[in-house]
Amino acid sequence: MNELSPEQITQFSTRIAERKRLLLEDVRRVLQRAGAERYADLVGEAGDAGDEAAASLLRDVSEAEIVRDVGELRDIAAAEARIAAGRYGICIDCGTAIGWKRLDAYPSAKRCIECQQRREKTRAPSRYTGR
Ligand SMILES: [Zn+2]
Repeated sequence: MNELSPEQITQFSTRIAERKRLLLEDVRRVLQRAGAERYADLVGEAGDAGDEAAASLLRDVSEAEIVRDVGELRDIAAAEARIAAGRYGICIDCGTAIGWKRLDAYPSAKRCIECQQRREKTRAPSRYTGR
């Protein structure tokens, strides 16, 4: 069940698009500062459809700021895909509504708070999960 109204989804969609624009600007700026104009150009060319491709091109750029931005851009790309599929605001693990409050704090959230906490607790090396 999705407890968000179409208007609320539109609002989140606008906020996500704006956040994405800022992040892409930020990535470009950091790359230019780092003298990696070649990568900056690739981010520009990749545009809307190529965020994932841009993200993989940027994988070997080690600046912490970029790593964080690219991680958030991935979340944003996934959120946009869920909006397009009519599944925005629904937890990808348990299928319940994520809730307006959590989305307001983090519009590209993909899990409800319970599933997110469970995931963080169980994110252990694989050798510990075989019991
Ligand atoms: Zn959940």
